Amino acid sequence: MLQTLMIKLDTSKEQHASLLETMHQFNEACNYIANIAFERKTANKMELQKIIYYEVRDKFKLSAQLTIRAIAKVSEAYKRNKTIKPEFKPIGAIVYDQRILSWRKLEAVSILTISGRQTIPIRIGEYQRVRLDRIRGQADLILRNDIFYLAVVVEVPEASKFDAVGTLGIDLGIVNLATDNDGESFSGKQIDTVREKNAVLKANLQKTGTKSSKRHLKKLSGRESRFHRDVNHVISRKIVAKAKDTKQAIALEDLKGIRKSVTVRRTQRSRIHSWAFFQLRSFIEYKAILVGVPVVLVNPRGTSHICPVCNHNERGNRPNRDNFKCVQCGFSGNADHIAAINIAARAVEVNQRIVAYNEVKANTGIETEHSYKPPISIVGN
Ligand SMILES: [Zn+2]
Repeated sequence: MLQTLMIKLDTSKEQHASLLETMHQFNEACNYIANIAFERKTANKMELQKIIYYEVRDKFKLSAQLTIRAIAKVSEAYKRNKTIKPEFKPIGAIVYDQRILSWRKLEAVSILTISGRQTIPIRIGEYQRVRLDRIRGQADLILRNDIFYLAVVVEVPEASKFDAVGTLGIDLGIVNLATDNDGESFSGKQIDTVREKNAVLKANLQKTGTKSSKRHLKKLSGRESRFHRDVNHVISRKIVAKAKDTKQAIALEDLKGIRKSVTVRRTQRSRIHSWAFFQLRSFIEYKAILVGVPVVLVNPRGTSHICPVCNHNERGNRPNRDNFKCVQCGFSGNADHIAAINIAARAVEVNQRIVAYNEVKANTGIETEHSYKPPISIVGN
């Protein structure tokens, strides 16, 4: 599977300015080359190089390789449509090849600009990290909302999905970061201890308000994020391993539906919990894809207060955050555990409907009128 990754460049002010100038010069050069190409009615790279290579280098202060890239960009654009002269915006993308861009492990890139080579740190997520060692070929330098990115295409091998014999429902939360439908829970207690310790330190530093205290404060939040990230890695690894070992699919609530409820819960806790919550989800998803565990996203509506025994649906079934007690049949238990049971059940139900739909389709050929759109997305498809 081919995938495009956007790698954010962590530029200094000077680096940003120099990349921007490079982009402007490069695209101006492209427009100049386009004039010549259009006049002479040629999209041939070699021919264009012969005519204008030295002129362009000199006029736009571009390096040899960037000049060749500019000619190539014009040639490709002109080839696509020979009836019009291609035009290039000042911040059009620059294609970099290995001669003018190299990766410094997964920490930085060395990239050619108009003011020489620059080493620029990159910001990559964990999801990207597992794929980045597969970078081949070219990268496009792109400017978006005043931030520079490198767009790279990578080939991602996926483990083929196994046929699940069951479903592991996972309820993600704030206090218990994750609880599954067996009742196993993965707590965030460790994180809270660190956070509370840091909170005191932070409050003091905020009071001080000096430059050095601000710097210290930043460092502290960085450390806290990294710690939280590590915990998320541990938990997601455990969940995916459990699903794989027991041949179960993983069921999660659909992200779109739960953003709202998380915002509400967020008021009780620090902001860091919110991004960590989404990070844990994405860690579970990509780790599952890599080892072939199917992931099913289900509609989150009511999963926290529907009774899994009698199906009674009432908010009152959940008198408080930690406990569930059905007002109709009296079934009770840990609220997170029951939410996970509901999530697993919903995934099974969805699967059955898909199977049923496929059977109908196979037997009758009916598809259009009653075609069944699963209310879920299956990650990785
Ligand atoms: Zn009940």
